[in-house]
Amino acid sequence: DHPLFNKAKNILIQLENEGHKAYFVGGCIRDMILGREISDVDIATSAYPEEVQQIFPKHFDVGLEHGTVMVLSNQETYEVTTFRTESGYQDYRRPDKVEFVKDLSEDLLRRDFTMNALAMTKDGEIIDYFAGQEAIKHQEIIAVGIADERFNEDALRMLRAVRFAGQLNFSIESETYDAIAHHAPLLSKIAVERILVEMNKLWESLHWQQGLSAFYQTKLYQYCPLTDSLAKSFEHLLNDFAPSTPFNEATLAWTLVLWFQDESAISPQKFGKAWKMSNANIELINDWLTIIQYREQHNDYSNWKLYQLNGQLVQDFEDFLCEQQDAHSPFGNYFSPAMPDEVTKQYQDLPIHSLKDLAIGGREIIQSFAPKNKRLIGESLKWLEKEVVCGRIVNKKDLLLSELSKSFNWKG
Ligand code: ATP
Ligand code: MG
Repeated sequence: DHPLFNKAKNILIQLENEGHKAYFVGGCIRDMILGREISDVDIATSAYPEEVQQIFPKHFDVGLEHGTVMVLSNQETYEVTTFRTESGYQDYRRPDKVEFVKDLSEDLLRRDFTMNALAMTKDGEIIDYFAGQEAIKHQEIIAVGIADERFNEDALRMLRAVRFAGQLNFSIESETYDAIAHHAPLLSKIAVERILVEMNKLWESLHWQQGLSAFYQTKLYQYCPLTDSLAKSFEHLLNDFAPSTPFNEATLAWTLVLWFQDESAISPQKFGKAWKMSNANIELINDWLTIIQYREQHNDYSNWKLYQLNGQLVQDFEDFLCEQQDAHSPFGNYFSPAMPDEVTKQYQDLPIHSLKDLAIGGREIIQSFAPKNKRLIGESLKWLEKEVVCGRIVNKKDLLLSELSKSFNWKG
């Protein structure tokens, strides 16, 4: 009787009215049973994609070859996917052949874990061929069918298992776990982008240690870019942090992976490129690392330092550190006491937060001094910036200009 399912019920009814079978399937049923927030409600049907398109004139084609039509209904979008089986998997990732079938049970058979192989009718009756509800009750991640075969078909599933362990605080059932340890090398066949998506979900999950310990123990990490030399980092991550305190930002976790190296042998740039991270995220990792390295050596921030560092990240780091120190984790001991409130106030009280906030710019300097040497414009602004941030000059136009006339030789 969940509002999200109620909202989507009409789609099942319309498909059934046309003589097709239709069910809610996959992660949404799992999350409903767990009382977790449901991200998206997926629908599986015996109708072929062309039939789905006909029944729902408002649709997008998102993955027709896989049988998926995105249907618009009640201001929401739903993935409606034709029952299908898969076979082939020559590349350990994508099936060579997708075959549409008329039976729900065959569709559920291709799914990764028993907790994800549940379906539900429009009336809320759960269809569970593989004891998925039992697995959820016991908080276990269990491959559907023969685990060895399932990871051989699609190696990304191994990382999905690890990620779900972190998100759900489930353990990986022993046969499934052994199969991951056995097939870990297949992970090197998987596109880095897909690995990164799963890892980021793991880092941002509440119980990331639960997933990370499987990632480490099964040796999956050895088949990811540049991480085979980072065993020590993963051990620190597993041992040094309070349980169930999330990172909120995956980039902070990646930064710690690098920070725990012996002598920062791998730079954020090199690591980020190997993992195909965005430039923005590589920059964030750089910024986090600068903050953490500074904070190892100092008990507080000067105004100038705070101004130069990424202010938002400094505050986020102090919050994170505070949480770790409250929980008395080993990580907290690497640093002097966190000061989240002080730093937030100090940052807010900075006279300016960027060069743009200065009361004068290049134009005013040209108007007042008409400098022959154009380099002086930038130089003098840089000087003012520091004087203002450090509180030695007040950020007012006439004050700034009079200081400039005293301190620079504008004729030369
Ligand atoms: P979430 O959306 O919260 O990450 P989910 O279980 O919904 O979790 P999706 O990636 O959205 O995961 O996939 C939806 C469903 O499709 C899964 O529940 C599962 O049944 C099936 N599925 C997804 N990826 C795979 C895979 N690699 N192998 C087999 N089945 C899969
Ligand atoms: Mg989903």
